[in-house]
Amino acid sequence: MSSVGGTLLKLRSLYASRKRADPVSAQVRRTLVETLYTQPSSLAIGAFNGIVATAVAAWVANLQILFVGCLALTVIAIARVAAAYGLSPERRETSTRTLELIYEIGAFSYAFLLGVIAAMTIWFDASAGVEVLMVSNALCYGVGICARNAGRPPIALGQLTLVCLPIMAVSFVIGDLAFLTLLLTLALLIPAMISITMNVYKVLCDSIAAAETSAQLAEKMQSLARTDVVTGLSNRAGLNHAMVETMMSIDSVTRLAMFWIDLDRFKEVNDLLGHPIGDRVLAEVARRLRDLAPKKATVSRFGGDEFVICCQIADRKNAEQIASEIHAEIMRPFRIDGDRLEVRASVGVALLPDDGSDADTVMKSADLALYHAKVQGRSQTCFFDKSMTRNLVRRREIEGELRMALQRDELSVFFQPILDLETGKIRAFEALVRWFHPDKGELRPDEFIPVAEESGVIVTLGNWITVQAARAAAQWPEDISVAVNLSPLQIRAPGAALGIKNALREASLAPSRLELEVTESLFIDDNHATGAFIEELSAIGVSFALDDFGTGYSSLAYINTFPFSKIKVDRSFVSGPNAGRKSDAIIRAVAEMGSTLGMDIVAEGLETAEQVQAVRAAGCTLGQGYYFSRAVPDYLASMLLTQERDPDHQSNKLRNRG
Ligand code: C2E
Ligand code: CA
Ligand code: CA
Repeated sequence: MSSVGGTLLKLRSLYASRKRADPVSAQVRRTLVETLYTQPSSLAIGAFNGIVATAVAAWVANLQILFVGCLALTVIAIARVAAAYGLSPERRETSTRTLELIYEIGAFSYAFLLGVIAAMTIWFDASAGVEVLMVSNALCYGVGICARNAGRPPIALGQLTLVCLPIMAVSFVIGDLAFLTLLLTLALLIPAMISITMNVYKVLCDSIAAAETSAQLAEKMQSLARTDVVTGLSNRAGLNHAMVETMMSIDSVTRLAMFWIDLDRFKEVNDLLGHPIGDRVLAEVARRLRDLAPKKATVSRFGGDEFVICCQIADRKNAEQIASEIHAEIMRPFRIDGDRLEVRASVGVALLPDDGSDADTVMKSADLALYHAKVQGRSQTCFFDKSMTRNLVRRREIEGELRMALQRDELSVFFQPILDLETGKIRAFEALVRWFHPDKGELRPDEFIPVAEESGVIVTLGNWITVQAARAAAQWPEDISVAVNLSPLQIRAPGAALGIKNALREASLAPSRLELEVTESLFIDDNHATGAFIEELSAIGVSFALDDFGTGYSSLAYINTFPFSKIKVDRSFVSGPNAGRKSDAIIRAVAEMGSTLGMDIVAEGLETAEQVQAVRAAGCTLGQGYYFSRAVPDYLASMLLTQERDPDHQSNKLRNRG
């Protein structure tokens, strides 16, 4: 017996040390306790077996006390099976200790009762068959339960001990050789079963711990797979995951905003400064975004230079405020190795539920809004609007058809005269492209030029326009020049100046008769190629006009830097809804500057005689607008010139409202 006590002590200390050493023991223990409750049917079969055997023994031996024992076994068995079926260990509200205790009470009382019944068959000297039946039934149960409950050694071994003890006690009291040998057998059985059970227990613990470890590892791998290495933010997969979780946790009144942020021209940072610097800029942008984002926001980086912030908002105003903070934070100059670096961003915003009821739709809407922010000139925020979807479809159609349009001869160049406001004579024509689409009718350049810029077709298209314009101009008198609009993208394309020179050569047009109209947006980026382009063409006599003056940044710095011969005051100052006293003052100021610097000032968009009168009084030297003529095909442009120079038509006021 002392060996049993010693083993039990060892068992307890091993058990206790495992509990202390193993940090996941609570979870492992829970899993092990849960094994007690798995397969309650095996419990029911065991109980049924014990009850039937006891009933048979009681009947054969005709012992009253065994009937009582049978009844007690039945009550305990029913209670246990009911508890096993009733307590679901998956439900976390029942504590591990309670689950264990309930099981223990049932298991110990059942085991002890079975042992007592077996001991009684010996004590009351029932027939040999009955004794064998009940002793073997009790021992089978004891050994079997040890295997079943090895996950909880104290319970398993407690049951075995409680089953054996009454039999051992009765054997000891009877004291004949056979029973003493039985006593010895059982005394050896217990330590043997302790050893076996502890082995099984160890294997069980190890395998559960291994499963736990691999689950933790898998979780870690998963979190790595959802993290962007450069910035430490979540990546696309991480955002998708976070969105799914967010969508599941929010109610119908919660509003979310998704900000899709794209750094403007980040490729240039990478190309000029190298990828390591690019990565540092991205990491710094990430840090700033994380700092400004609300607490529970998901901030992630999508491949390249795109970031997405998704967060709860109170209302649209709140979203607008966050968007402006995003711009302010990104625009704050970066210091990298002592160098100052400025970055800007375009932001597309979509709201949930306003712009989509699920994560996918909101993401698409934010992406579309970003696309619009970029198209509208970058460095700004665009909130999603339903019309964007329609516009996008149309844009995609246009993009697809634009390449074909050139080959199919659907494009033509029209010419709008620019007149001397003093003499009323035509000084030049501005070439304006027209697209006569077979299904969509006449498409405005405002609609397809941006698409051409975006898709890169503008380079081919622009060269083609320059050639057409130069050819037409070659037919006009030598004092008439032609103005061609150039998109910034066209100028930055490699070999841009050469394209213009080729067009001039092909049409045999003197370079001095070509004027290139560029907008202020060309100068914001302070691109080296721009300066070289203007210098190279100025050198051979091509002149430059600053178009749409007053709509952009209106920084006068580059007017001095570049050799402009003309400034075209935007038509919104002349005939737009904002035209009025204030714009009159602006026109006056610009005209004064023009006369000081020896530049022509062109008033665009002249539609009425009063407007012509006003801009002339303000000091503009040239004028252009529907009042004189719309843009017309080249043969009509030639006719206008002929009429103007024909003495018979001198009195004919130049007016063509075609
Ligand atoms: P822009 O360079 O400012 O061209 C002048 C625009 O004003 C033309 O519109 C012209 O038809 C219009 N316009 C002329 N007089 C009046 C007037 O009295 N009232 C009003 N309301 N408008 C007047 P269009 O042809 O639709 O061109 C729009 C813009 O598209 C142009 O603005 C220019 O930025 C671009 N574009 C046109 N042709 C070309 C081209 O060949 N190449 C490039 N890169 N851009 C072009
Ligand atoms: Ca123009
Ligand atoms: Ca213009």
